[in-house]
Amino acid sequence: MRLTIFGTGYVGLVTGTCLAEVGHDVVCVDIDADKVAGLKRGVIPIYEPGLAPMVQANHAAGRLDFTTDAATAVAHGDVIFIAVGTPPDEDGSADLKYVLAVAQTIGKHLARNAVVVNKSTVPVGTADKVRAAIAQELKARGADVAFDVVSNPEFLKEGDAVKDCMRPDRIVIGASSPQAIEKMKRLYAPFNRNHERIVAMDVRSAELTKYAANAMLATKISFMNEIANIAEKVGADIEHVRQGIGSDPRIGWHFIYPGAGYGGSCFPKDVQALARTARQVGHEAALLQAVETVNDRQKGHLFELIARHYDGEVSGRTFAVWGLAFKPNTDDMREASSRRLLQQLWDAGAHVRAYDPEAAQEAGRIFGQRDGLVLCESASQALEGADALVVVTEWKQFRSPDFARLHASLRDRVIFDGRNLYEPDEVEAAGLAYWGIGRGRSI
Ligand code: NAD
Repeated sequence: MRLTIFGTGYVGLVTGTCLAEVGHDVVCVDIDADKVAGLKRGVIPIYEPGLAPMVQANHAAGRLDFTTDAATAVAHGDVIFIAVGTPPDEDGSADLKYVLAVAQTIGKHLARNAVVVNKSTVPVGTADKVRAAIAQELKARGADVAFDVVSNPEFLKEGDAVKDCMRPDRIVIGASSPQAIEKMKRLYAPFNRNHERIVAMDVRSAELTKYAANAMLATKISFMNEIANIAEKVGADIEHVRQGIGSDPRIGWHFIYPGAGYGGSCFPKDVQALARTARQVGHEAALLQAVETVNDRQKGHLFELIARHYDGEVSGRTFAVWGLAFKPNTDDMREASSRRLLQQLWDAGAHVRAYDPEAAQEAGRIFGQRDGLVLCESASQALEGADALVVVTEWKQFRSPDFARLHASLRDRVIFDGRNLYEPDEVEAAGLAYWGIGRGRSI
């Protein structure tokens, strides 16, 4: 099928590439001319395992092209996806300006029947707004073109995006027209071969499904962080507790890891946006507000441990920070816990030597050249001249450090483990002090 994707960010680029990989003819359109020019030369603007070779191969095979020309892009697609950002507005609601700008663009150029698919995470009722925006533009130029608007929320995880997209555990399609659902089923047929993955429903339910999924996952994380903070105060070890509850199939192992708080471009904004939607319809979403409050507090927790260890005397010290991305296998630092920690360290007069396997460039873009920050090229380089180590992102390469070497490198011989990667006994046996999240050592 001939497909058009508006937005070549994490979702649009991965979706477009995977759809080209299974044989569709895909045109990706973006307003960022540098990004488009780079993609045409095979330069991938994000780090996502497996993505670069797939983009390059499909582009070379002529199934995947990039453009800034919206008119040509709209003319190309039988199905037109909207996959642009929906950042939080000042009041926490999702800002729809990019989505509606694309809808207007589609309306300006649409000349034949098409299905418009919203893949961006948007509040319930957005499909109606998209439909109205397209209809208004069509009317303005006296065009009589039939079109459907479908909700098809995206569930890929950054860091696993290609895998998730090629082997989705479900494909949610919200539509009111049977023809549109049929077209979407044909489009996704290559991903739906072994067992049924398509969950078809009405548009509003599909829009809410995406928020419900993210809010549920964020709730699990905040719940676990809450229990970890209790564990810390009562002298229990959250890692034992985690194993004790995860083995219950009703609870399960996923998303019950305590840590330095969740970040990224989705959970923080989506929890806020859902709470905002609830408020707009007269419902106070107390649980969602608590999830956010707990997370916000958790992002400051590593610094609290640091301040406690040093009796508040943090000024002038140098911290090696391992991990800046909001999670492993991505270079994305949007809402990353590292950003709060670095700011708190700087505010307290400390220096940072940071290393992240993929996010150094992004960190350079965010922080620029500034006093108190050295971006290092390796984990061991970050340790040079450092007083203490803080682990913020659980990249695999940080999992088994040489503790004897850390003992020799770190002046104050202390590790703050924001992701509970290490066993306190092992670290302490190597002569280092250890602070984790909820490890019951601070009573
Ligand atoms: P992103 O910021 O990485 O990319 C958005 C892209 O859209 C940018 O390249 C931008 O230049 C482009 N754009 C903006 N306006 C445009 C226009 N008028 N025409 C063409 N391109 C335009 O965003 P993302 O992370 O890919 O997220 C997109 C949506 O998908 C959001 O609603 C997000 O909540 C949702 N989502 C994201 C993820 C994720 O892991 N990142 C997962 C699931 C859903």
